Amino acid sequence: MEFRHPKLRTLGALLIGLCATTATAQDLIANQAPIDRKQKAVDSLTITRLIEKEAFEAPSTDLYTSWNNKQVFCYSEKEVPETYKIDLRGFAMPTPSRVVTSRVGYRPRFKRMHKGLDIKVYTGDTIYAAFDGKIRMRAFQPKGFGNVVVIRHNNGLETIYGHLSKHLVHEGQVVKAGQPIGLGGNTGASYGSHLHFETRLVGALIDPEELFDFPNQDIKADYYVFHKNGRGEKGNKTEDRFNRPATEQNSMLAVATNTAAEAANGSALQGKNYQVKAGENVASIARRLDISVDQLCNANHISRNTHLRPGQILRY
Ligand SMILES: [Zn+2]
Repeated sequence: MEFRHPKLRTLGALLIGLCATTATAQDLIANQAPIDRKQKAVDSLTITRLIEKEAFEAPSTDLYTSWNNKQVFCYSEKEVPETYKIDLRGFAMPTPSRVVTSRVGYRPRFKRMHKGLDIKVYTGDTIYAAFDGKIRMRAFQPKGFGNVVVIRHNNGLETIYGHLSKHLVHEGQVVKAGQPIGLGGNTGASYGSHLHFETRLVGALIDPEELFDFPNQDIKADYYVFHKNGRGEKGNKTEDRFNRPATEQNSMLAVATNTAAEAANGSALQGKNYQVKAGENVASIARRLDISVDQLCNANHISRNTHLRPGQILRY
């Protein structure tokens, strides 16, 4: 095909016109870009909220297929995963009490295992949800747990709180870490007021002391890797039952080293935790602790806009 001059001119004009149009369009697109980005941010926020909402309404659906509000222990051995990484960040201590009165282990007197951790609390002391989650059951079991609350958490764990004097939550209620769920007591098979606290993964016992450090009001590491074959509920060799991979041991060591270093520096152990009070936000706490917002955010894997809950524990 052959182009003649007039046509070429027309083509030239057309091209110039197109360029002009393109430039204008680009300007328009450029002008709109921030709005689009904003829209995108809003969309992802909405999606994040929807995912969170879904997680709350049906926590850990990857692990659990049933929802039983009649029995504390309702899982079969075959439902327990071979291995599972539990995210412990975003925790709250169930009680500010630092006094452990009985550990997980065999009790010769009763000829059976004690499958939880007993922490000294007084009747009427507030007991808090350890992580975000949903109340799977609340019940009164006079021969066992007394008033008991079981929470299924978004991180896969279920926590059990026994011997309460009062429930403060109802079944199916969505709770945040640090939210009051009951009051300490002496109900059920209990001699003296205390909190019986259990941590389980699809019914499999995990020693709460592998996860929580009550004397120091802290978690032991940010993650805990559960191994089914490292578990065994019989016998009293608790140290053999919870095999951690090297990386987890390393992170545990790191925690221990920090703690030792802090102790050596003479700083109080509890100095590295801060319990959020009502009305506080990331910026106000950073100011109060005399550290930068970034330092506080980095230490806690949060952003400056993260909504903090009263009772939530922050590291610094
Ligand atoms: Zn107990």
